[in-house]
Amino acid sequence: MISAHEVENIDESVLKGILKRTSNSQSYESFLDQGSKCGWCRQPIRLKGKVTSINTTTGELVAKYSTNTEPDGVLLKACGTRRVTRCPACATVYLGDARILVRSGLSGGKGLPETVAFHPMVFATLTAPSFGALHQALINLSNSITCHPGPQKKRCEHGALLFCNMGHDIDDPIIGEPLCPHCYDYTRAILWNATCAKLWHRTTIAIKRELCRVLGISTRSLKDYIRVSFLKVAEYQKRGAIHLHAVIRIDSAEDGWTAPKVDIDTTLLVRVVRVAVTKASCSFPSPLTGFVRWGSQIEVRPIVCSGVESNTVRLSSRAVANYLAKYATKSVDSSGFLDRKITDLSDLDSRGVKGHLRKLVETAWELGGRSDLELSRLRTWAHTLGFGGHWLTKSRNYSITFGSLRTDRQIWRVQQFSEIEDPSTDEYEVESSWKWVGIGWSNKGDAYMAKLKSEQHIIDRLLAREAKCIQLLESEVTASSIAVDKYEREG
Ligand SMILES: [Zn+2]
Ligand SMILES: [Zn+2]
Ligand SMILES: [Zn+2]
Repeated sequence: MISAHEVENIDESVLKGILKRTSNSQSYESFLDQGSKCGWCRQPIRLKGKVTSINTTTGELVAKYSTNTEPDGVLLKACGTRRVTRCPACATVYLGDARILVRSGLSGGKGLPETVAFHPMVFATLTAPSFGALHQALINLSNSITCHPGPQKKRCEHGALLFCNMGHDIDDPIIGEPLCPHCYDYTRAILWNATCAKLWHRTTIAIKRELCRVLGISTRSLKDYIRVSFLKVAEYQKRGAIHLHAVIRIDSAEDGWTAPKVDIDTTLLVRVVRVAVTKASCSFPSPLTGFVRWGSQIEVRPIVCSGVESNTVRLSSRAVANYLAKYATKSVDSSGFLDRKITDLSDLDSRGVKGHLRKLVETAWELGGRSDLELSRLRTWAHTLGFGGHWLTKSRNYSITFGSLRTDRQIWRVQQFSEIEDPSTDEYEVESSWKWVGIGWSNKGDAYMAKLKSEQHIIDRLLAREAKCIQLLESEVTASSIAVDKYEREG
């Protein structure tokens, strides 16, 4: 499990822990069982307790479980975080759930019919407006090969040059940094993040209003004709501004999961969403004036079912699901410096937060301390640069929930490990008592072995996923060659 090279770099306390755990094969087996049940979580919750199940008809004690039989007398429960910087093992599980949740609303599954893929559906990307000039990646520049080609000697009032003749690669750390930090409007950048969830809500209302206008019906009667389902995912751009990706789907009014019976197709929906996005607005929090609106970089594209047509204009449902799910495990920054709350600005020193990112957090902290501002929770959300919303939100009917996926997994696990055939049945009375005793592995050796196991686990999952993708592609290629053969035969 551990290579010779790694052993050289392991400190003594880790080695002692590993030797203690592996010296007895039976206790090592129990440790492996304990670890695999919590998915080799990096920071598992440690619980002590017991469960008893009694058959209510016969009074017979059917099953009894106590953590006394577990290594160290504790049950380990996975932390369940979505942030890969905190626990890659749990983040991988979360990523899988996110992909299922997004995809079932696009192409069916998990209780939704596959015909949902034929409903009018669009994919929208909505960005924030500009808050000041920034260094940009080459990929974002449509008509230029340099970052800011302006007059070479032009400077702002603070003396900073307002041109940059570099062609920055996508991974250049300067991308997203302002040309002049004094000119950059940090206050509006933070308040935009803090209000963009409200702006999204206003946008959904504007979409419904615009639909009513083109269909010639009143806003009150819209629900009698169609239902509009939404899914929204928030992502941080390099400049620290939130931008949103959204799926907007039209369903029928009756049972929701049949196609709408009114005269609306994807082309019309694209037009409706484009108009609604330009109309949507909300006010900046008092005492600031002005309106929060979307920036000029807006994209609305039709979604088609997988395997039909997929090019730069029309997106396949599989591409959209994979694209959206990849944001599930991310924090504000890729290093995870800001993957948890800050209690004081001095936290930024210990976490090594610098430059533009640091200025954004400092601005959010300062604004949160202002009594005249309508946003009182900005300090709580300083580590998320003012954004207090969830990374993914959806309307109730879009698809299933994360909770239902977790419940399904829990029931499956109980069925795997329990002696009771169906724990949900009324025949059994289940009594349990639990006590929280801590977080993390009991010693450095266990933590080290859990880290190696979780890394292997993730590699195995990725390989399995890759194999499945290849299998899927092969079946699509076979299906299309059969279609070509048939076409050629039939002329
Ligand atoms: Zn975890
Ligand atoms: Zn530049
Ligand atoms: Zn300046």
